Amino acid sequence: MGFRKAICPRCGKQNEPLCSNCGGTSFFGNPTNFNLTCTRCALTYSEFQCRTPGCDCLIGATLFNPLVPAAGCFIATELYGEDSAEVACLRSFRNRVLLTNPIGAELVRAYYRIAPSVITLMRRWRPVRAALQSVVALSVVVVRMAGRRGRPKTAGKKLRVP
Ligand SMILES: [Zn+2]
Ligand SMILES: [Zn+2]
Repeated sequence: MGFRKAICPRCGKQNEPLCSNCGGTSFFGNPTNFNLTCTRCALTYSEFQCRTPGCDCLIGATLFNPLVPAAGCFIATELYGEDSAEVACLRSFRNRVLLTNPIGAELVRAYYRIAPSVITLMRRWRPVRAALQSVVALSVVVVRMAGRRGRPKTAGKKLRVP
């Protein structure tokens, strides 16, 4: 199976999966969680370190896997466009939260099965499109709030005036 290259979000380098254990570049994809397994030493990766020296950015294995659509969410892509902040937000939620557990990965696969027919529906009927727009907008808000809660709150600390 051929894997695609993934661009490092930090330094912009095009990366190919590389086994840090044996140096192998040949992998097979796991169909349940989309992790990549080295064909030489059988080590499984959920993320790969960027190959640029000094750049420690981790790139999710799903980004290399051609079975996973590059867009995080077909419906969000249809509504907001491929490069929108909404799609980026849902894509990172899929990679970091959903695909890291078996139930989430199953949900993602179910979603990819139904999404194409949903898109056909929303192109045909405006009310369907409007309804889905509210659902997606709400999901983005929820995902953003959940992401914020997980982060340390140092930036928002107020200075106390004596
Ligand atoms: Zn990098
Ligand atoms: Zn290996």
